Amino acid sequence: MTFWREKSLQDLSKAEWESLCDGCGRCCLEKLEDMDTGEISYTNVACNLLDQETCGCSNYAERFRYMPDCVPLDPQNIHELKWMPSTCAYRLLAEGKDLPVWHPLVSGTRDTVFSAGIAVRGRCLAHHEAGELEDHIVDWPR
Ligand code: SF4
Ligand code: SF4
Repeated sequence: MTFWREKSLQDLSKAEWESLCDGCGRCCLEKLEDMDTGEISYTNVACNLLDQETCGCSNYAERFRYMPDCVPLDPQNIHELKWMPSTCAYRLLAEGKDLPVWHPLVSGTRDTVFSAGIAVRGRCLAHHEAGELEDHIVDWPR
């Protein structure tokens, strides 16, 4: 069922909303904000709660308790979070676009998120390995 084409983000059930996340882990990379321009730069340093193998949150249920900076997504604020990756399903749908062919809801498997090079597995490192975040700015995700 292509519910994401037939319903607005506001009308999705909780399960439908959650199923839109492709599990790429891109939004879980640390970001730096330029205090003068407000520009956001991504780094290849992962949030401490990100499981770098599965690219999922290792404590999703209690993430806000352990990571107060983790931003909860909802149908209202997704329009304002301009730093969300351009590949993110929530951002794509908020912009009136469709899901890409590699999205699990389209392909039928999460494997395609990895084979398409969308997931962060193998492309990021942990805080304790990283040192200064400024040394880890990357030009992806866009
Ligand atoms: S960028 Fe979007 S699709 Fe990817 S993990 Fe974050 S919320 Fe899910
Ligand atoms: S707390 Fe979990 S969902 Fe939030 S940024 Fe970290 S890994 Fe991602």
